[in-house]
Amino acid sequence: MIIVRKTEDLKKVLKKRRGEKIGFIPTMGDLHEGHLSLIRRSKKENDLTVLSIFVNPAQFDRNDDYEKYRRNEKSDLKKAGTEKVDLVFIPTAEEIYPKDFRSWVTVEGLSENLCGKFRADHFRGVATVVLKLFNLIQPANSYFGMKDFQQYKIIERMVLDLNLPVKIIPCPIIREKNGLALSSRNSCLSTAEKHRAAKIYSALQSVAHLIKSGRKVSKTLLLKIFKKQLHPEKSDRIEYLEFLEPDSLLPAKKFHPPLLIAAAVWIGGTRLIDNILMKEDSSCLF
Ligand code: AMP
Repeated sequence: MIIVRKTEDLKKVLKKRRGEKIGFIPTMGDLHEGHLSLIRRSKKENDLTVLSIFVNPAQFDRNDDYEKYRRNEKSDLKKAGTEKVDLVFIPTAEEIYPKDFRSWVTVEGLSENLCGKFRADHFRGVATVVLKLFNLIQPANSYFGMKDFQQYKIIERMVLDLNLPVKIIPCPIIREKNGLALSSRNSCLSTAEKHRAAKIYSALQSVAHLIKSGRKVSKTLLLKIFKKQLHPEKSDRIEYLEFLEPDSLLPAKKFHPPLLIAAAVWIGGTRLIDNILMKEDSSCLF
């Protein structure tokens, strides 16, 4: 496994492998089974698998959140090695954003609602870094988890709008046995908080089942069901529970599939997101 930290070195390594089909997985590190599922898919579908590990300052709205984001390079490299990743790119912030950096990518219409409403400039930071990484790595395929559904849709739109020669491949959400979606942020949770966090998924499922039943429902009723199942403590807070058309990410006109049910919940001091995609035939991509 080759490890590079400088863009110039990355270019040199990739030049030697010209002609090979590249699969690329952008991450912020602290790798877990969710990340590894993307790597495994890339290994199956490409000649060369490239992983990036970069805690992107431009997508954090709070400096303390950026500072405390868990960095775990040694363990990440061990995991990447076990998965036989071919090349790992671990740039510094200065390498990606040199002093005079001025150019940003905004995907309008998809970035402002859901997480965008609560995290200013978050998706501008995501789209910009992903575009830069695509330009540097020039992958044929790039893999994104549907846990960050809005992020996946924004990148898919950016690729279409800017004619980027890369295929965006959405991958299913990997969960713990109790339903909790794997996330690097889960390590911030205490045992009791983890237990409460696992209920986000069962609460989403309850809401999905009610919609699937065909009963007449309202957002107020669905939010009530969600809250009842979640059973939040005083320190917890539902930031949003939204029902959206999966392609446009606009609020759904009716509670009928295809439908994205997306939630952001604070469990104590940790913000977690999760979603369920209800497909046209009412089956759910859990
Ligand atoms: P992150 O390191 O959190 O920026 O995530 C890097 C990639 O891994 C993104 O495409 C995420 O959507 C994906 N990912 C994170 N958690 C999961 C999960 N539980 N299941 C599947 N993909 C995930």
